[in-house]
Amino acid sequence: MKVALVTGGSRGIGRAICVKLAELGYFVLINYQSNKAAAEETLAEVKSKGSDGELMMFDVADEAQVQSVLGTWLENHKENPVEILVNNAGIKNDTLLMWMSTKQWKDVLNTSMDGFFNVTKLVVQGMLVKKYGRIVNVVSLSGLKGMPGQANYSAAKAGVIGATKALAQEVGRRNITVNAVAPGFIRTDMTKDIDEKSFKQLIPVARFGNPEEVAEAVCFLASEKASYITGVVLNVNGGLYT
Ligand code: NAP
Repeated sequence: MKVALVTGGSRGIGRAICVKLAELGYFVLINYQSNKAAAEETLAEVKSKGSDGELMMFDVADEAQVQSVLGTWLENHKENPVEILVNNAGIKNDTLLMWMSTKQWKDVLNTSMDGFFNVTKLVVQGMLVKKYGRIVNVVSLSGLKGMPGQANYSAAKAGVIGATKALAQEVGRRNITVNAVAPGFIRTDMTKDIDEKSFKQLIPVARFGNPEEVAEAVCFLASEKASYITGVVLNVNGGLYT
């Protein structure tokens, strides 16, 4: 049994990644925060691809919860360590910095950055023992370019990009690669309030992307074929200037 863990696997980009990993034969641990019905839909799609998986509810930003739910699973499945980790869970809460509350700042940073730390710290241990692993972090164009109204989100994603590059250098000798994928505008719940018609003229391919197009990039970096690629950020943004 080859195991993959996708945080925020219940909806959007995370769901598309779970389904693609199932197509590739992975048993998929589908993390979500609260939306059990959506997570169950992802699991049904995973099963429809002839694979299997398990729902795993925890808040990636809550170290104690991650330790108790994920830590216990890993402890009980030492013979099946997680081979692929996709740190995808993320939120945005946009406003200009001058109006941003401390909570808006912290919630967004904690989900992306603490989430990356809490989950990766546990999962990388098994990868180090097995001397194999693939870690892919879903970041954003915002983390590369900075976007007005998203100081919190841009900082959070830029932080994860820095951590990606550092960790890649720490674990490369153990055959573990660590990369990031930076989507532009992708059609999910997160972008449902953004008017595609008015934004698409900024995008060379003249449309928003689909979650499946991000999943392809993630699954390439998560594959054995990407063995000599580590510490990079792969843009999946239809050619938007970064
Ligand atoms: P989405 O449709 O809003 O889905 C977010 C997912 O993350 C859901 O599965 C949600 O679980 C989960 N989640 C949120 N906070 C969590 C937490 N604290 N612990 C565990 N799970 C949590 O978002 P999306 O558009 O697919 O985005 C996925 C990733 O891509 C995010 O990191 C986002 O920043 C990044 N991204 C998206 C775009 C875009 O245009 N959509 C562009 C660039 C980057 P529940 O279902 O339980 O709420």
